Amino acid sequence: MNLVQIERKAYERSLVVRVGYAALPSFPNAACTDEPDAMFPNPQDDEAVRQALEICHTCPHETECGLFAIKAKMYFGVWGGMTERTRRRIARQGRI
Ligand code: SF4
Repeated sequence: MNLVQIERKAYERSLVVRVGYAALPSFPNAACTDEPDAMFPNPQDDEAVRQALEICHTCPHETECGLFAIKAKMYFGVWGGMTERTRRRIARQGRI
């Protein structure tokens, strides 16, 4: 990957984070309200992903958030206690 591609990726990621922020308030009292950045970990960082999943598992909206994320094709970040990969797999299988 060259520098232009890296910059493009960084821009796309920051854009997705902003889209994610806009969606989060639709879940009042969400467990991630005070730490939205934590919900967009680097997918290669296992510890950061694990921490994000733990936050979701304490959230009262885990199920509805996961359904929302799959249906809205939110393919970046941890949503509803699922990683990007898990949500893509569920969507591909047509289970939702
Ligand atoms: S399930 Fe996770 S991403 Fe969704 S609102 Fe709750 S803490 Fe945030």
